[in-house]
Amino acid sequence: EMQEPVGCEERIFVSVRLRPLTDNEIARHDVCDWECISDNTIIYRKGLSVSEKSMYPTAYTFDRVFSSDCPNRQVYEEGAKEIALSVVRGINSSIFAYGQTGSGKTYTMTAITEYAVADIYNYIQRHKEREFILKFSAMDIYNEFVRDLLSADSGPLRLLDDPERGMDVERLTEETLRDSNHFKELLSICEAQTQIGETSLNETSTRPHQILKVTVESSALEFLGNDKSSTLVASVNFVDLAGTEGVSQKSSAGARLKEGCHINRSLLALGTVIRKLSTGRNGQIPYRDSKPNWILQSSLGGNARTAIICTMSPARTHVEQSRNTLLFASCAK
Ligand code: ADP
Ligand code: MG
Repeated sequence: EMQEPVGCEERIFVSVRLRPLTDNEIARHDVCDWECISDNTIIYRKGLSVSEKSMYPTAYTFDRVFSSDCPNRQVYEEGAKEIALSVVRGINSSIFAYGQTGSGKTYTMTAITEYAVADIYNYIQRHKEREFILKFSAMDIYNEFVRDLLSADSGPLRLLDDPERGMDVERLTEETLRDSNHFKELLSICEAQTQIGETSLNETSTRPHQILKVTVESSALEFLGNDKSSTLVASVNFVDLAGTEGVSQKSSAGARLKEGCHINRSLLALGTVIRKLSTGRNGQIPYRDSKPNWILQSSLGGNARTAIICTMSPARTHVEQSRNTLLFASCAK
């Protein structure tokens, strides 16, 4: 009944979402220099200087681009749905939002998470021949600290390398979901926790990654209790990455594009960026130290499915960041 996710053999579906100018941007007469000219191509309209032309393309093509008037529902349907829902068939997946602060990551991921979980429940309704158990956990990662978003005072959590379960976060709360309302309740707890975090992080201006994880376990009722092989377990991660404005750029943009595009199309490119983002130190950390990579290991490797939605501001004042976002997206493809 369910189709193979779009672009599944590539394992990563890359889309770009342009947001509208905000009221503030309009008030200070900022303008939009970008235009989505088709379902998969976005162009930079403003004239480039000669030196810029050698460094930046003017047209960028992805699996999908979403123009500034595209509603959340459509971004979800066309940029994330099939990949997120592969979780009900026992396939791990992750949906990432990548982009500078203020570009629309949270706006996008919040909606996608809600639509996806609603669709998982719809699927369960239509598949009475199986018994489903859903579990939910939520964390944010700030530098090397992991925080439980479902617990008010857990303090920083440690990572454990469990031989059975793989990488795991110590003492992370995992709630068994009763229904979709229960999920909404837990989301508001996460949101409250996130806001507490934001207040205390204000001085440092470094921002955390957020990972919401839904695990779906199902067994055919027919075999319940006597056939383990009928049990499917997989997780979908909804990842709202830290703002990318801290990542070094500009002078290295051209070099990064070249280097990044040579890396095989697997998630190494994404991993590199996640690694860079996971510290405030522009990524001088060894692979094994990268907490987001560890945590996402099982969802990134093997036959896992990944979608990444790169959000960008249309504003002329953000053109540098927007180009870097598109260069990253080109590499992730
Ligand atoms: P980020 O999480 O990347 O820092 P936000 O998701 O908080 O950015 O978005 C910044 C602001 O822009 C918010 O006020 C949000 O409501 C608005 N916004 C972002 N994307 C869109 C969009 N596609 N359509 C309308 N408003 C948007
Ligand atoms: Mg945000």
